[in-house]
Amino acid sequence: MIDLHSHTNESDGTFTPRELVETAVRVGVEALGITDHDTFAGHELAAPVAQQHGLDLICGIELSTRAQFGKGQKTVHMLAYFLNGGPSPEFRAWVASLLASRRERNVRLIRSLNEHGIDISLGEVEAMGRSLTGRPHFARVLMNKGYVGSTEEAFRKYLAESAPSFVERDSPEIVDAIREVAAGGGVSVLAHPVRLGFRKPEEEEQFIGGLAAKGLRGIEVWHSDHNAANTARYFGISQRLGLLRTGGTDFHGANKPGLELGTGRAGNVSVNHEVLDELRAAVAVAR
Ligand code: AMP
Ligand code: FE
Ligand code: FE
Ligand code: ZN
Repeated sequence: MIDLHSHTNESDGTFTPRELVETAVRVGVEALGITDHDTFAGHELAAPVAQQHGLDLICGIELSTRAQFGKGQKTVHMLAYFLNGGPSPEFRAWVASLLASRRERNVRLIRSLNEHGIDISLGEVEAMGRSLTGRPHFARVLMNKGYVGSTEEAFRKYLAESAPSFVERDSPEIVDAIREVAAGGGVSVLAHPVRLGFRKPEEEEQFIGGLAAKGLRGIEVWHSDHNAANTARYFGISQRLGLLRTGGTDFHGANKPGLELGTGRAGNVSVNHEVLDELRAAVAVAR
């Protein structure tokens, strides 16, 4: 069993990098990908711990990008994996610029929440996170202050794209992100494609095919938001479009309750070691 999608408390997970590695070892995950949003800090802190335990640790990241489809512009998550050495210094600098735009979004989000009658400050939310502050940290403060009873409610009422107080973040175009990842030495993978929300499988495949034509390398076939039919469909798409396949739980600790590292929701994720072998073989050939 392997798990190529997980988050530490350096982004919006609740486990420290050490806790995440120790949990992976305890539950029998043989290879773990740490894919924090917009930071490599969790992977870096986890690396020595993984080495002590003999855990195969994979360096990854999850980026928020934008793409045009359906009714307009949407946020699309992209995973990037660095399987031969780490990301280039140029890629790290690009990631640092993404962090800066996230910080700027947070300032506007605080202002917007204040305008909607919420008593909340940037200091309070930043105190919840480490390398970066994300909306799950906002959700936590809203819960602690009694504005909402759950993370779900915080998103529904205040933080989701559909909420009146939501503010846009300046994120890179997906094709630019694909190019940056390739130039930085990484493999780009479309994360949890079910969240694109396509109703028609033909339109979904056409959109993913367009990204493949622009250099997208892979697609996340196994994910805790994918049911068996989704997984089968994405497997088929990966075969028809010649894309690599990845999978993982998207474990966030207490920020995504009911989800286990390695196995997902009630065991709905199961990723074989061959998936990683194929990924590594593809990267070795490409070099
Ligand atoms: P940010 O990167 O700060 O815009 O926050 C995005 C993160 O918030 C996602 O990666 C999820 O971890 C979390 N998130 C987004 N939507 C929801 C939701 N409806 N319920 C719970 N968590 C969410
Ligand atoms: Fe997240
Ligand atoms: Fe995601
Ligand atoms: Zn994720």
